[in-house]
Amino acid sequence: MRRDPLIIGAGPAGSAAAITLAQAGYRPVLVERTTGPADKVCGDFLSDDAIQRVRGLGVDPVALGASSIQRVRLIHGEGIAEATLPFPAFGLSRRGLDAALLSRAESAGAIVQRGQTVRHLTLDLGEWTAQTGDQSGFTAETVFLATGKHDVRNLPRARSDRGAVGMKMYFHLAPGPAKTLDGAIELTLFPGGYAGLQLVENGRAVLCIAILRQAFQRYGGGWPGLIASIEQRSRRFAAMVAGARPLLARPLAVAGIPYGYQAGPEDSGGLFRLGDQAAVIPSLTGDGMAIALHSGQSAAETWMAGGDSVAYQRALGSTLRTQMRLAGLLHHACMSGLVQAGLTRGARVFPGLLRYAASGTRLPPTVALPEEMVRIPAG
Ligand SMILES: Cc1cc2nc3c(=O)[nH]c(=O)nc-3n(C[C@H](O)[C@H](O)[C@H](O)COP(=O)(O)OP(=O)(O)OC[C@H]3O[C@@H](n4cnc5c(N)ncnc54)[C@H](O)[C@@H]3O)c2cc1C
Repeated sequence: MRRDPLIIGAGPAGSAAAITLAQAGYRPVLVERTTGPADKVCGDFLSDDAIQRVRGLGVDPVALGASSIQRVRLIHGEGIAEATLPFPAFGLSRRGLDAALLSRAESAGAIVQRGQTVRHLTLDLGEWTAQTGDQSGFTAETVFLATGKHDVRNLPRARSDRGAVGMKMYFHLAPGPAKTLDGAIELTLFPGGYAGLQLVENGRAVLCIAILRQAFQRYGGGWPGLIASIEQRSRRFAAMVAGARPLLARPLAVAGIPYGYQAGPEDSGGLFRLGDQAAVIPSLTGDGMAIALHSGQSAAETWMAGGDSVAYQRALGSTLRTQMRLAGLLHHACMSGLVQAGLTRGARVFPGLLRYAASGTRLPPTVALPEEMVRIPAG
């Protein structure tokens, strides 16, 4: 008899694993450091694949008030390229989505432990010890590591390039810009970074920015300087945020994002690494959550079938390879002040390029969910 896994981190990856295991009759322990629903640095763009997976896990984004997105706009200076997305998408806050997935995991039978931060994780004679705070902690034979953007101190992700910063703020836009944004996501390029703007539930807008650390420092190293610099470079962006009312006391931020990181089987060290602990796809694709959900389900299925972490990590690596490669190329092009203008002009003349980029940076269709799973209603 194998003991049920310990899952560390209740983002989309950890909750997807917990729901999958609990629905099959297991009782995994899911440990989460926050004590209640929280905002996260994320553009809140739910791609088609993520929507299907979330529905398959028993959570309905529409019931949570998700805003529908059908079009993408690429903006550089005054240039705007627009295309219809090749798939349906939603804007949904991470606070709402993560809370719904976690509650689903709990009602399916997972044992949820909130307010517990795992500080140290060690393996001794086939048993993991996850130390939280003082001397207390959890032990398990199998650990799913799903701490997302944050590494457990003694098990960092192996990646030297951690040179990106992510920032986020919610707004109530002025009526004109809110109408213009309805049904679209706008990606504004500026030297060293890009900013995504879209609507989420309750008519709020989310602005999420990914930027190279050096560029961030050049723009003053803070939110006001950054926004002012983007406004100076794009009248369109300035018009969209004019009169916008911020809804958070201060912007959320995360530094040291290892874009392009992908764990190999040799990195598993006996752990199942999930979500951002397995792969960090550049944000402009809006597919990080789909990967997180897929990795959680896939790790759970591998473990239930008797497979080990090396087999899981190898399969995940080959599933993501092509998508990660294209996303990396696009990310570098979109960050580069030299390429941005040409990219936007090209996409204006050939809007199919935007659709190609959107499709090519999704999980491959071979790991798409079967139709009957997609139709499962929220419960
Ligand atoms: C700037 C930016 C914009 C993005 N925009 C999008 C987008 O629009 N669409 C999209 O699909 N993806 C986007 N992503 C990617 C997406 O946010 C991640 O891929 C996704 O959140 C990964 O899910 P996860 O479950 O692995 O980790 P997370 O969502 O980070 O969840 C990890 C959980 O673990 C908990 N935790 C952390 N450390 C510990 C610990 N030591 N002990 C216990 N609990 C712990 C955290 O509190 C958290 O709840 C974006 C990323 C960035 C940086």
